[in-house]
Amino acid sequence: MPDQPDQSDQPGSPRIEVPGPRRVFANRTLNLRAIQAIGYDMDYTLVHYRVDTWEERAYARLQALLAGDGWPVGGLEFDAGSVIRGLIVDAELGNIVKANRFGYVVRAAHGTRMMEFDEQRSVYLHTPVDLADPRFIFVNTLFSLSETCLYSQLVDLYDDGRLPLINGYEDLFRRVRRRFDEAHVEGTLKAEIVAEPGRFIELDPEAPLALLDQKRAGKRLMLISNAEWTYAREIMRFAFDPFLEPPATWTDLFELVIVGARKPDFFSRQLPLFRIVDPELGLLAPAPGALPGPGAYLGGDATLVEGYLGLSGSQILYVGDHVFADVRMSKASLRWRTALILRELEAELEAIDALAPTEDELARLMAAKEGLERRQRSARLELQRERQAYGERSGSTPAQIEAELEELRARSESLDARIGPLARASAEAFNERWGTPLRAGYDISHLARQIERSADIYTSRVSNLLYATPFAYLRAKRGSMPHD
Ligand SMILES: [Mg+2]
Repeated sequence: MPDQPDQSDQPGSPRIEVPGPRRVFANRTLNLRAIQAIGYDMDYTLVHYRVDTWEERAYARLQALLAGDGWPVGGLEFDAGSVIRGLIVDAELGNIVKANRFGYVVRAAHGTRMMEFDEQRSVYLHTPVDLADPRFIFVNTLFSLSETCLYSQLVDLYDDGRLPLINGYEDLFRRVRRRFDEAHVEGTLKAEIVAEPGRFIELDPEAPLALLDQKRAGKRLMLISNAEWTYAREIMRFAFDPFLEPPATWTDLFELVIVGARKPDFFSRQLPLFRIVDPELGLLAPAPGALPGPGAYLGGDATLVEGYLGLSGSQILYVGDHVFADVRMSKASLRWRTALILRELEAELEAIDALAPTEDELARLMAAKEGLERRQRSARLELQRERQAYGERSGSTPAQIEAELEELRARSESLDARIGPLARASAEAFNERWGTPLRAGYDISHLARQIERSADIYTSRVSNLLYATPFAYLRAKRGSMPHD
């Protein structure tokens, strides 16, 4: 992934200090001045939730439902560190895996138990992750952490023979998901959040100003969320109104507010549109044909939005946190420019920074190891020619060469003993089990690859655009091949 910082301030101008982890990164060059309209997702994009608090509640709800169905889940507890975004559930085998850019599994757990390297290798050597295969489910939102954690624990119970009515790991996964959806767990939780938003929402006082800057710079702003109107209204009031100058409220920032958007279908299908005629009561009136003007709507689709704005493709930027429903679909169907919000990036970059001395030492030792390997190779060839008496010869006796090889082997082993713990420390940064979301060994992770493919830019939070300013020219780093 590129690591191009956006620090485009002019010499002599007041310098805006951009905290390192809050930079904006570009996969493809994006000139914000050419963007006429910006659409924003709400949940985990404009509004950030305290992940552990939310996921603990979601977990408890699902657990209570399953307990009510007679499942033996009473003793289970949500383990926040057990999963991270970007992992993949292998529902066929009851595994959770992390894959690299090419889909090759680099780490795997069966249920909650991390697999040893040999076991993982024998299971996945010939089975790369393919997200088009329904067997693999991508954990691509923070809303899925509780479900994934519970699934891994249920796999343990299933293996112990304590879920006799379940027919395999895939059946287990589908049943848990269906129960979650049927019970409207997310809806029930949202009622809790509206009642007590301060407990669940992590406020970002800079986000409203970032949007105001964009609006005043002439961008036409839109909120496009799958949430229901009353929920979106309460959450946006709580998260935005305190940071705007009265009488302005959050609705003044947006030319269009579209709730109940049904993304990803919003980007690829034609769906009916309703106008919200009474914002307090949430009363609706059908709005057939076209978007009649600024205001709040329910449903509709991206084609209606483009028609209303008189804009298309590269003039519109969409900002969201869901790799598939927000970013991949708006890019694939409509060629909109795209920005992915990835809050974990801040912790990932901090972990990488803290690791810098370890990585430097690791690189030094790896270079020494390569040097030793070069000498071992040529000594081996020398020995072969000496023994079989052909080609160019060094003049050393086989016994001398063998002694040298022995010494090289001993040095290589002692190097390995120093490399091992450093490599482990590097692999366990951010999360002890899974490492960082965007790296996978020496390669980038499957999540990073999805981001690279679909997101023109990515950053940890919307308010980072405040530092970038609405006038930023976000340059992608030149692509590179190993030979560069
Ligand atoms: Mg979202």
